[in-house]
Amino acid sequence: MKITRIETYPAEIVVRPELAIKGSKGAHRVSPFLIVRVDTDEGISGAGEATTMPRWSGETSATANAIIEEILAPAVIGLDPLDVEALDYAMDRVVNHNWFTKAAIEMACWDIRGIAESKPVYELLGGPHRSLTIPARFSMAAYDPETAAAKAAERVGWGFTTIKVKVGTVPAEDIARVKAVRAAVGPDIKMVIDANCGWDCDTAIRCCKELEDCNLSLIEQPTPDGDYAAIAKLRSAVNVPVMADDMCFDLVHARELIRNEGCDVISVYPGKNGGIRKSAEIVKFAAEHGVACSIGSNLEWDVSTAAMGHLTIGLQNMQVEEFPGDILGPWYHEDRIVTEPLAIEGNTCTIPDKPGLGVTVDWEKMERYRAAAKG
Ligand SMILES: [Mg+2]
Repeated sequence: MKITRIETYPAEIVVRPELAIKGSKGAHRVSPFLIVRVDTDEGISGAGEATTMPRWSGETSATANAIIEEILAPAVIGLDPLDVEALDYAMDRVVNHNWFTKAAIEMACWDIRGIAESKPVYELLGGPHRSLTIPARFSMAAYDPETAAAKAAERVGWGFTTIKVKVGTVPAEDIARVKAVRAAVGPDIKMVIDANCGWDCDTAIRCCKELEDCNLSLIEQPTPDGDYAAIAKLRSAVNVPVMADDMCFDLVHARELIRNEGCDVISVYPGKNGGIRKSAEIVKFAAEHGVACSIGSNLEWDVSTAAMGHLTIGLQNMQVEEFPGDILGPWYHEDRIVTEPLAIEGNTCTIPDKPGLGVTVDWEKMERYRAAAKG
């Protein structure tokens, strides 16, 4: 089989205002997506998604579009979509980084392989290792304490048993917010904090000490990007598992985190880690070193969320039962672009038991988004 063409569809989708996420890196109110379709000479096409966010990875839907049209598509057209390792090699030779952009093409190739073999992607990865219904946590924006407390209590009423509170802003406000949420949800709900690199090492240690009475179950990305010593120092100062997220894009980062004993858990997902194969590589490497993984998110739409779900179901070390992840992205958005949207109910997302990624993009709808984006 050979790749014959890659079509790209930019779309800007508004996040439901009542659910907009606000963390140490600012607010997320609109998602700039790039949906891709990879066509082959055997008539099978696969769908992929670049879930771009410039302050997160330096990519936008416009850069993803340009890099695919000008560099990646010429490099992969003619290649076998079933040989994902060779595809990754071809893409890495011509473009550095740009994880979300490459992941869009890569996940489309897994979709093609699954359709060709009539198997869901999780089966191609060696699964299923867990239920197709994946538990998630609720990610609470960095609101003022009263708003955060009220929203947290409401989310618990919706069925969430783990609440993640964004911190990494002004330390006194962070502490007040987390304490208010703990008081509102009671002692039985699991609570996680995520600083998104917003604290320096000493501030992180001080804040975590001040939050000891909140019984946190996980501290996510408390310290700055690239500082393996800082996250290791924080980890040795607290009695709570530490998760690395914003500082782990590839296997080199995962190796440095583990070498420095910097974390108990790594947040992985196909967009951030440059595709399903590269994510799986990190998950397996972490497993060999006794480090758990869970699913992270950049507020994906249905295509990338399906890829995240298959990764979660396909690999034993995606320990979402112990560390529920973020896999509710489509639910945050005002529109959906697949013919049968993923079932997201309460605190769970269910992945379809169908070949490939298991979602069918409404390409006519994408044509309309593309026409609107190109003006
Ligand atoms: Mg995070």
